[in-house]
Amino acid sequence: MNKLAENESSGAYNCALCGSSDLRIFYEVENVPASCNHLWKKKDDALNCPKGDIKLALCRSCTFISNVAIEPEKNQYDNGYDNSLFYSAHFREFTKKLTSMLVEKYGLYKKNIVEIGGGKVDFLSSLRELGKNCVFRFNPFYPKFDSSNQEVNSPSSSISKSFPSVFEGEKIDFVFSYHELEHINNPKIFLKNLWMMLNKSGSLRVFFSVPNALKAFDEGDYSDIIYEHVSYFTIPSLHFLFSICRFEISSVQETRGEIFDSIHVDAIRKLTKTPNLTPVSELSIRQIDQIIQKFSAKTLENINKLGLQIIKLLGKGNRIVIWGAGARGVTFLNILKDQRIDYAVDINPHKHGMYVPGTGQKIVAPEFLIDYRPDFIILANPAYKKEIEQLMDSLGIVARYLLI
Ligand SMILES: [Zn+2]
Repeated sequence: MNKLAENESSGAYNCALCGSSDLRIFYEVENVPASCNHLWKKKDDALNCPKGDIKLALCRSCTFISNVAIEPEKNQYDNGYDNSLFYSAHFREFTKKLTSMLVEKYGLYKKNIVEIGGGKVDFLSSLRELGKNCVFRFNPFYPKFDSSNQEVNSPSSSISKSFPSVFEGEKIDFVFSYHELEHINNPKIFLKNLWMMLNKSGSLRVFFSVPNALKAFDEGDYSDIIYEHVSYFTIPSLHFLFSICRFEISSVQETRGEIFDSIHVDAIRKLTKTPNLTPVSELSIRQIDQIIQKFSAKTLENINKLGLQIIKLLGKGNRIVIWGAGARGVTFLNILKDQRIDYAVDINPHKHGMYVPGTGQKIVAPEFLIDYRPDFIILANPAYKKEIEQLMDSLGIVARYLLI
């Protein structure tokens, strides 16, 4: 399904951040589900879901990586889209930890805080509780998304007010966003607009967390490369992006051992008319270029290793399910394309009874496994292993685990 790296320079595209045409295409996958997190009520609809191509290109001027084959109109964030992570106690614990750190580090008490994004996480409730803050959600990516239907995602009325209307009347003190920037079609235009929208708020702090794409590329981890992710950020490209949009980065931190490997960006909105650009060094470009050139081959090796193991186990009559019908699980199923895996397990009750886009596995609750008795469980995200093991123990289910 995925081709070995072309690793060729293409003059056909321009970088969305710096405009350069010196892009190296290094990874291609055709015909993947356009929305990994849009689940389907009927198996046929799931199998025939809208699809698109992924063609990742590295800009050799600013190191920004993007899917140059993206057709933005295919990214449908409507009410059928559910990427909530909030059903996991492990994730809720993580939100508590991160928000406690933010409240303490930045003195977020009785402040006006905006969270950009929505649909998968809720850091706002915690920010409100911990610092008695007034919190708002700005959901620019989901024009068709009615958050009032998602009880987990809109836990209080005080966050249902839209950001532009908040902006008109209130001074904002802090802007927060967790794993949303990579979904935005053009992050430069978005951040420039954000700077403008915050005009009445003056200088303020913003905090963005994005997936650590380069770490994934270095490890040959393909599971987070999904159609919804338009952008993949490196630390130098983040510096470049924020500086061109008149934000000054105070610190960039690579996190390990969280739910997802991330880069946390802490920046200040600068009150300046002209951007003070942070150019990308030749050395950074060379180092990043070397990593991405090896990615396609490493990925193929990883896919073949686990894929062949699973095919062998299925051939011997083992029952195998995958745990996690989110982006990583759906991506893996669409790479493996083995119809002998009938079920995907998920703890999100809104997903139960639905079907996986592209490959059509039925999504079931963990309790389903009491009768089904799988021999092996593929873990879409190993970060949840402990939580899953505990749940399996409590249900009296004994299975072995395979890690993506
Ligand atoms: Zn560029």
